[in-house]
Amino acid sequence: MSAPGGIERALYIARLRQRVSAWRSAGLRVGFVPTMGNLHAGHLALIDIARQHADRVVASVFVNPTQFAPGEDYARYPRTLEADAAALSARGCDLLFAPAVEEMYPEGTRGLVEVRVPGLEDLLCGSFRPGHFRGVATVVAKLFGQVRPDVAVFGAKDWQQLLVVRAMVRGLDFGIEIIAGPTLREPDGLAMSSRNQYLSAEDRQKAPVIHRTLQAMAAAVRLGASIPEAESAARIALEAEGFVVDYVAVRAAEDLGIPVAGQARVALAAARLGNTRLIDNISVDQ
Ligand code: AMP
Repeated sequence: MSAPGGIERALYIARLRQRVSAWRSAGLRVGFVPTMGNLHAGHLALIDIARQHADRVVASVFVNPTQFAPGEDYARYPRTLEADAAALSARGCDLLFAPAVEEMYPEGTRGLVEVRVPGLEDLLCGSFRPGHFRGVATVVAKLFGQVRPDVAVFGAKDWQQLLVVRAMVRGLDFGIEIIAGPTLREPDGLAMSSRNQYLSAEDRQKAPVIHRTLQAMAAAVRLGASIPEAESAARIALEAEGFVVDYVAVRAAEDLGIPVAGQARVALAAARLGNTRLIDNISVDQ
């Protein structure tokens, strides 16, 4: 099914498979960008990256219920499929896969076959969002099985998610190349996110403090501050602006462990303003 002049859409796995199989039999390389929709420039930049590594690009829009804990924003998560389809079409994406929850989980989510990534799934965001990364790994595994891409692109903005997906691909021998796209930001430094629109006007003014605090923390560590010292200064700075801090930390970029000498480091934070939970990260070793 496709809107006149618009992007081709697949609502059903069978239709998606038919399309992608035809491409694969023609020897074309398939790129994939999974999203929850409400697309912004950060998402669309991932489409461009996929295009550089593949002959055909598939994007998915699926707000995955199993990665939201009870009480989180699943019900109010912004759903803007028509605008997303238009934006993907304008960006030259070849196929939009937008399954219903019943297509993805035809037997419901009880007794679901799940993917676990022990260690990584319980750290940082995982400890504040129980079950989140299990939900992410499971739906990404299903999407990979449905799309069967050669290459998939994920944003560095969700650093822990990127590591979870890489670990899953290695651990389960998916043989899919995973590429990281850089974090796109608003002019004031706030990382673009579908959740930014939840912010009140006042909180939107404060929100870039999260990026500035990460920059200050990374600079302090580069200049020789101890990590615990830099983390506690960053926490105090965020709390002074009214953030409720889940964590603010400097970790090894490759596994989120405590960094040892010579390891690349990442500065990460998750903090709430009102009902909005924001996450961000930057490299410490620029
Ligand atoms: P989401 O729709 O939030 O699940 O995100 C879909 C993909 O877009 C994920 O790989 C995210 O990491 C990525 N993404 C989200 N925000 C940004 C951003 N500001 N810059 C680059 N990629 C992003």
